[in-house]
Amino acid sequence: MSNDNSTNNTPPTDFIRTIIQEDNRTGKHGGRVHTRFPPEPNGYLHIGHAKSICLNFGIAGQFDGLCNLRFDDTNPGKEEAEYVDSIIEDVRWLGFDWEERLFYASDYFEQLHQWAVQLIEAGKAYVCDLTADQLRETRGTLTSPGANSPFRDRSVEENLDLFERMKASEFPDGSRTLRAKIDMASPNLNMRDPVMYRILRVTHHRTGDRWCIYPTYDFTHGQSDSIERITHSLCTLEFENHRPLYDWYVRELGIFAPQQIEFARLNLTYTMMSKRRLLELVEGGHVAGWDDPRMPTICGLRRRGYTPECIREFCARIGVSKVDSTVDIALLEHCLRVDLNRRTQRVMGVLRPLKLVIDNYPEDQVEELEAINNPEDASMGTRMVPFSRELWIEQDDFREVPPKKYHRLSPGKEVRLRYGYLVRCVNVVKDPSSGEPVEIHCTYDPDTRGGNTPDGRKVRGTIHWVSASRAVPAEVRLYDYLFTKPDPGDVPKGEDYRSNLNPNSLERLTACYVEPSLKGAAPGDRFQFERLGYFCVDKDSTAERPVFNRTVSLVDTWAKIKKANDRPRP
Ligand code: ATP
Ligand code: MG
Repeated sequence: MSNDNSTNNTPPTDFIRTIIQEDNRTGKHGGRVHTRFPPEPNGYLHIGHAKSICLNFGIAGQFDGLCNLRFDDTNPGKEEAEYVDSIIEDVRWLGFDWEERLFYASDYFEQLHQWAVQLIEAGKAYVCDLTADQLRETRGTLTSPGANSPFRDRSVEENLDLFERMKASEFPDGSRTLRAKIDMASPNLNMRDPVMYRILRVTHHRTGDRWCIYPTYDFTHGQSDSIERITHSLCTLEFENHRPLYDWYVRELGIFAPQQIEFARLNLTYTMMSKRRLLELVEGGHVAGWDDPRMPTICGLRRRGYTPECIREFCARIGVSKVDSTVDIALLEHCLRVDLNRRTQRVMGVLRPLKLVIDNYPEDQVEELEAINNPEDASMGTRMVPFSRELWIEQDDFREVPPKKYHRLSPGKEVRLRYGYLVRCVNVVKDPSSGEPVEIHCTYDPDTRGGNTPDGRKVRGTIHWVSASRAVPAEVRLYDYLFTKPDPGDVPKGEDYRSNLNPNSLERLTACYVEPSLKGAAPGDRFQFERLGYFCVDKDSTAERPVFNRTVSLVDTWAKIKKANDRPRP
């Protein structure tokens, strides 16, 4: 497995890599580079996490360093083992390896507790009896200082005794906290005697009921980095204001001091990235689960048919910076198409079938015609596709009254059947009540096998088809974006992002037909259906009836210049 996050050979450069190169030059950590990816196991990973994963593992790979996977599990109640398992699976699937360095912040609870005692003994921490509301009220604002807690000057002995009794479960939840004694007038609110420990009787997914006091994120993160001797602790911009506190704890404790560096988080158009929101979508039944193919989660993207390679390439292309921005989802889809174009086999499938009968083709004859698997890669070879008198074609490929420039099938016109023959429409059978065409009758030219025209006549349209007697019935799921607006959070007052949910984000086509070579395709297998897009076999498939998700259409809105008011579709 490779930790390289780029598919080309030039290593990426950005402000973080520049800092690391400079540290290596000055010998700050003796040339050692050690990063970590620290997810909180309170949901499934999304494409934003992929950016952080590619960055942390990518840097470790590039600088001969190491990258740990650490679960930041300081919030019992919101965290579950299910999430831990999914995160492990997703980081592996993205192609990264933490070797034996899988850690949990909860493994450090004992050490963190000792460090809390150390700060109490040094007069740098105190037990405070203010309630959560009182804490908020006395914290001050951005423009006014906070007020000292009346409990701030307790003696070391009293603090040690009270903290010990907090741990021994003598006090109710929320009745007391342990706070760092820093500066209630600091312009940085995080430095106004922040809470280090709170009382919380909640079972932890790893430590069970051993603790009824839990350290806060701020009192945990830097020390965990320090224990693991992380050299560069990369996090998103919202932690910038926490850095003075991060530094304060490691300095006051006199322990190894990692360097925290912040970068801008990934935002993508037409989607939402916060785990809290994604959980709401799952719990509200707006999607079929965390791995719904419309979700921006790693498992959703995987089920949709995304490849780890295209996600890594996308992360390499967006790079990292200090400025918040929103990336056009068309760039992600572009990386996907480039990768799928290279790797997938072309096949034929008909999504909205219309019967085509070749009147002059022998009734019981079935021919095997040779089809090319990938015109861009001859090494992928060819396969045989059965051709017969009755075929399914796409409803869209026939028009009784063809619009201008319509080169597909219409009465009297000739069209090429891909890898098959040229056929000419001679008759249309219509539903007597609706007037809709139900059967197109054609004649074929036996001299045009393989779609060739020996006499050199021009036929502009080529359409795909499957043999009616040999095709495999299938279900196909087409997707549009989950939200109708590039910024789903853009809503009128009093509404929330849910009013921008796209009611048509899923279309299920249950009467499709695919060529017989797709029988037995396994979940996760990817194909290009000629003219229709890239598709991936879904886990709902059975041996008899495959189910396909459309991963992405063929039209690349990133590669082409689009009209401004033309809403893109995946
Ligand atoms: P969310 O807001 O989606 O719940 P989070 O920041 O709470 O995300 P964590 O599990 O704490 O999620 O994140 C693990 C790591 O991934 C952190 O270092 C975090 O900064 C990073 N990360 C999370 N979201 C993004 C994003 N959109 N872009 C880049 N990095 C991200
Ligand atoms: Mg978080």
